Amino acid sequence: MKVMWCWRCQSDMPMLDEEEYAEIYKFSEASISSEKRNELVCSLYKQYTGMSATNHAAIYHHRISLYGPPCPNCGKPLRTSRASFCAECGHQIVKKDKFKKTENNNADNFAGLVCILAIAYYIFAEIYALFTGKMP
Ligand SMILES: [Zn+2]
Ligand SMILES: [Zn+2]
Repeated sequence: MKVMWCWRCQSDMPMLDEEEYAEIYKFSEASISSEKRNELVCSLYKQYTGMSATNHAAIYHHRISLYGPPCPNCGKPLRTSRASFCAECGHQIVKKDKFKKTENNNADNFAGLVCILAIAYYIFAEIYALFTGKMP
């Protein structure tokens, strides 16, 4: 169990880890009346979280794995694990594979800069030679 911001409830809610969720999910497949299911799910949820619930349907979305990791900027969980930005603060999420690309770009930029400097030096040398009649 972990207390996380729930986007649907718009408040901090106790969320279930996979083990707890699996136990609760068993009731959804059991051949019992919906009243009985509601009662069992809610009592188990209370056992795990200490929070009383009245509607078992709401409990099923209180599952940690449904949400992404916390936003590095505001700390609220991302709506999904594949979110590319935070729905709360708009913070851009840098994915690990994208980060690698950025590194490559930096290497390319560095090579480009060296190239420009070399050309600039060459042009400078040409101009210098033109005006002075000798190489720098
Ligand atoms: Zn919720
Ligand atoms: Zn955020």
